[in-house]
Amino acid sequence: MPGTLMADVCVVGAGPVGGTLACRLAAAGVETVLIDRAPLPPMAHPAFDGRAYAIAAGSRVLLQDAGLWDCLPDPPHPILDIRVTDGRVGRPASRLHLHFDHREAGGEAEPFGWMVEARGLRRALNAHFQTLPHLRVFAPAEVTVERADDFATATVHGGPSIQCRLVVAAEGRQSPLREAAGIPVTRFEYDQTGMVFAIAHDLPHNSLALEHFLPSGPFAVLPMAPSQDAETGGAPHVSAVVWTERTRMAETILALDDRRLAREIRRRLGDYLGEVRPVGRRWSYPLSAMLAHRYTDTRLALAGDAAHGIHPIAGQGLNLGFRDAIALAGLVVAAKANGEDIGSADPLMRYQRARRPDNMAMLTMTDGLDRLFSTNNPVVRLARDLGIAGVDRAGPMKRMFMRRAMGA
Ligand SMILES: Cc1cc2nc3c(=O)[nH]c(=O)nc-3n(C[C@H](O)[C@H](O)[C@H](O)COP(=O)(O)OP(=O)(O)OC[C@H]3O[C@@H](n4cnc5c(N)ncnc54)[C@H](O)[C@@H]3O)c2cc1C
Repeated sequence: MPGTLMADVCVVGAGPVGGTLACRLAAAGVETVLIDRAPLPPMAHPAFDGRAYAIAAGSRVLLQDAGLWDCLPDPPHPILDIRVTDGRVGRPASRLHLHFDHREAGGEAEPFGWMVEARGLRRALNAHFQTLPHLRVFAPAEVTVERADDFATATVHGGPSIQCRLVVAAEGRQSPLREAAGIPVTRFEYDQTGMVFAIAHDLPHNSLALEHFLPSGPFAVLPMAPSQDAETGGAPHVSAVVWTERTRMAETILALDDRRLAREIRRRLGDYLGEVRPVGRRWSYPLSAMLAHRYTDTRLALAGDAAHGIHPIAGQGLNLGFRDAIALAGLVVAAKANGEDIGSADPLMRYQRARRPDNMAMLTMTDGLDRLFSTNNPVVRLARDLGIAGVDRAGPMKRMFMRRAMGA
């Protein structure tokens, strides 16, 4: 249906960040067009993505404002406690650990976050797109973008041209719009792979998230709601595992049968969940980190993984992307209400100032944590265990970490 459409914002990339931002803008009456190169329905299929996101409290507000929270197919499971431990494979965790209880964080005693399955968020996005009168979605569709001082034009191949004030690049790590704008990036490669799958276990998790640091990388166990899933046979006690290993070792682990894999899990986890059983499929993701040198160009803003990618050690990658979406939506909605040009240099500069330092700080922290914990050096081990115990006793510092984990 060639022709020209007028819009305020064109978001390229309907992943969790671009899709949520588009819903948030459209819910506020901003005329928005969303374009993705891939077909959207298969993304909701169980085999598409095995990740489960730890959604921080701040990100939950974004999902509510976008109208997505109530569309999630399964109720998100709250994270009430977080335990950080240090150890070695086959040995009990160090007794010097860090325990965060959500009631100690101050304020309303909100959970630290909620576990949301990637495919659940996808189903909510796909369903909600249909209901927003200020949103037009083109997928699967290729797009060509031209940007000028006064406006940008996004031409959907075989479809209309969209004239808009602002284009948002949300196409993930390989963002073609970022590259076309000549924005350089700094990359860090980790020789690590993130393995993701679910486990059923005998004992309840009591809504506790565990981050167990091992020399080859962190081993995280995150509390999920009971499973009704036919693939898992239904299970009352279920957790999501995010297990980082050196890439060669990960290949071996992923090939283990369920019984051997369960044994390897117990060697790392100990017995706090009783007997464990891997359930469903296993996914793996090569790990790297990346930061764009600029987040903006003429009539262009980068958001989510197009702007930054971090190690999943703290489960914050999507939360950072959601914080981009919160900042960008706030600026766009305010500019529209005040009759300002929403894609002009001034709001874009404010967006970059609001988001780049925060993302850079999180990248530095997650990179530093990975390097600090991925070593067997006994001196470093002792120093970090003492550091963990020190933070556990230092009330204000501990509260600061807790509020940070909540996205406050
Ligand atoms: C092992 C692992 C565990 C993780 N766990 C967590 C966690 O617990 N919590 C958390 O906050 N984060 C987590 N993350 C990070 C999180 O998965 C990412 O930050 C998030 O997926 C980024 O979303 P996005 O929408 O920016 O990009 P993407 O998810 O990459 O989506 C990009 C979209 O753009 C589309 N696209 C691509 N190219 C084009 C194009 N040329 N034109 C149009 N569309 C295009 C794609 O089809 C896709 O739909 C984890 C990451 C890993 C690897």
